[in-house]
Amino acid sequence: MGFLESFNRGLSGDDQYEIAGRIVACSHCGGEEFDERSAQLNTAGLSFLDLDWANRSATVLVCKHCGHLEWFL
Ligand SMILES: [Zn+2]
Repeated sequence: MGFLESFNRGLSGDDQYEIAGRIVACSHCGGEEFDERSAQLNTAGLSFLDLDWANRSATVLVCKHCGHLEWFL
C-alpha cells in the first residue's frame, strides 16, 4: 500500500487530501474538500478483476460539495 503511507491531510486546508503528490479534486465538481471514509470490499466480486492485492479495504473520499465518492485502493 505504498502511496497510502504518503496519504497526508491538511496541507493547505482543513479537509484537503494529497495522494501521490497531487491534491485530490472531485472529478465531478472540482471541489477539494472531502470527508474520509474507509470501505470494505467484497473480494468475491473483484477476484476476476485481479484486485485481490487490494486486501479488502479501500479509502473513500466523499466530496463535501456534491457528495461524489472518490475511491482509492
Ligand atoms: Zn464534488
